[in-house]
Formats: sequence, C-alpha cells, structure tokens
Amino acid sequence: MTRVYNFSAGPACLPEWVLNKASEEMLDAHSSGMSVMEMSHRSSEFEDIINTAKDRLRRLMDIPEDYEILFVQGGGSLQFSMIPMNLLEHGADIINTGQWTKKAIAEHKKLGKTNVIASSAEANFTYIPKITQDDLTPDSDYVYICENNTIYGTKYKQRPPHEGKLLIADMSSCILSEPVNVSEYDLIFAGAQKNIGPAGVTVVIIRKDLLKDNDKLPSMLNYKTYADNNSMYNTPPTYGIYICGLVFEWLENEIGGLENMEKINHKKADMLYDYIDHSRLYSNPVAKEDRSYMNVPFVTGDKDLDAKFVKEAKEAGFVNIKGHRTVGGMRASIYNAMPVEGVEALIEFMKKFEEENVKE
Ligand SMILES: *Cc1c(COP(=O)(O)O)cnc(C)c1O
Repeated sequence: MTRVYNFSAGPACLPEWVLNKASEEMLDAHSSGMSVMEMSHRSSEFEDIINTAKDRLRRLMDIPEDYEILFVQGGGSLQFSMIPMNLLEHGADIINTGQWTKKAIAEHKKLGKTNVIASSAEANFTYIPKITQDDLTPDSDYVYICENNTIYGTKYKQRPPHEGKLLIADMSSCILSEPVNVSEYDLIFAGAQKNIGPAGVTVVIIRKDLLKDNDKLPSMLNYKTYADNNSMYNTPPTYGIYICGLVFEWLENEIGGLENMEKINHKKADMLYDYIDHSRLYSNPVAKEDRSYMNVPFVTGDKDLDAKFVKEAKEAGFVNIKGHRTVGGMRASIYNAMPVEGVEALIEFMKKFEEENVKE
C-alpha cells in the first residue's frame, strides 16, 4: 500500500490515526457486534457516539454553554439559505471575498434584503476588504463573512466591526485549525469535508437565544428542530458524525488541542510561503497579512508550465494540487491532517522542479 500526499481542497485528507481507528472498529464498534453504519441512531451506542463528539468539540473550541452544537446535512451550501431563513428580518450585510460569499449572496437575495457592503472582486479576491462600523447598514440584522476563502487562499485575522449586529462566519475551511473565541460570533458553520471529517455533515454552532419556533419554516430548515432533538429529528448522517468524533478525539489526545494544532499549521504554512516568496519560479498573489494557513495558491506565471507541474507532481505522489478553475495555477490545501513531512516533501519537489525549469 502506498498513501499519497493529498493536497485536495475537499474532500480532503484525514488523519491516518482516524482511518486506522475506524478500520479497527469497522466490524464491531463499541462492542455492539456491528459497524456504526448498521446501528440505530436511537441506540444507546450511537447516542454515546454523538454526545461524546459534541462534548469533545465543546472542549476543543471552548464553546460556551449558551451555544448549541448542531449536525446538519446539505453541506456548507445549505447554510447559505438556512441562515437567512432563520435570521434575516431587515437585511444582511455580506462582505464579498469570492465564490463562497458570492453563492451566499445569491441565496440571500432570494430571501431578503442583501447588502454587499464590501468586496475585493476588483483584485480577483487577493485580499480581505477592511471595513469600519460606518460601512454597516443601519437596520441590518447581521454581518456575514467567509472566514477563510478556500479558493483564493485568504483569511480573516481580525473580525470586522459589527456593533449592534450578529456576526456569522463560514468556517468550512479553517474550523479547528486554531483556537477561536466563539463568543465573538453568533453563528459559525462548517462543512465537514475540509477539516472535520467526511462530506455529508455540517457543523453549526449557534447562540441558543437565536433558536426560535417558526410556523412558516419547514421543520428540517429550522435550527431549533435540530437543537430540540439532539440533531436527530430525522436519521442523521451517523457514520459521518462518528468519523467527526474520531477527528475530535485525535485533536484532543494525539495533537493536544487547538493551540498545538495552530503551531503545527503555522509551521507548515510559513515554510511554504517563505519558500514561494524567495523562489524564482513561483508566486502567491495574496496580500501577506491576509494569507490563509490552510489553502496556499501559487502560480509559475506560465499556464503550460503550471500544467507540467501538476502532472509531474501527481507522478511523484503529490495529488489534487491543481488550482481552482477560476484562479488557475496550483493550490496546496494543507489542512490539519496534512503532516509537516508532507509540506517538506512538497517543497523539495518544488525546488527540484524549479531547478529543472528555470533557465539561467
Ligand atoms: C467547500 C466550502 C463550502 C461548500 O461546501 P459544500 O459542503 O460543498 O456545500 C462553503 N464554504 C466554504 C468556505 C467552503 O470551502
């Protein structure tokens, strides 16, 4: 068996510890004589799995008791609609940082007043627009941001001002990569397939006082339904939740928490950016202060050479490193599960490619 270094933006690589544990428990999980996939979601075994996962996530992110943790389906993308359905009354202020906020804006527009209060579109989303309290719409309900833009490789290092308004963040591609002060936010969501687990689960962390009965909303689209039923109003994605739980266990016991995880992530990202910034071949277009620790886009400046890089990288065991079609070039997604050795090996490969392809 040969495992590759998988730089996919999502679904992304998972910690080998998690995959091994799942494999050990495949036929007989928690002494039940069956796989987690075969368990009733109403069984005490599964109840223990989901509650342990929630407890671990609460400890890892230090989530205050007045926030609820929900497991929802429909991906990160359903949240683009569920958020306005549940929380938009007078208007939503959205900061456009590319694809993932564009999609949120499109869904919001179908459901209520949508104000795009800032955008970095004119620079192909290579920076995070800085706003002031004056940029906010007086009667809007919330400010909505994409904390880490997976495609452009940008990341908020500070929260935008949002006095008097809720703050909502799409953390699909950076959740669990660093400690977060949850109480700065009112709702955080993340599709699992980047940094939490397999596709099919979305984690929503929401302030409890925002959960409301609503006769107009289908039950499955109301956050309160999930909160009232421990995310089991209907059959939840049981196996996905179980794998998320194993990732939380790995972060707690093998990594030692999010502060340690952040140190490892900074080490990986700093190494890669430092090499790119000093190389004669590669460049990264993102404003330095806004660079992502998770997604690192880079180009050679020559489309044919980019294609050659992607092809030769694959042959050398570095897969899914092609950039998003709207950006081109390459993108190395270096989520929590990408080991330091994977980034070191990638840099060695990049050096060799540079030597072979840069003419003196
Ligand atoms: C991947 C991603 C999404 C969409 O997730 P789906 O689960 O495919 O709907 C949303 N936001 C961000 C930041 C993402 O990276």
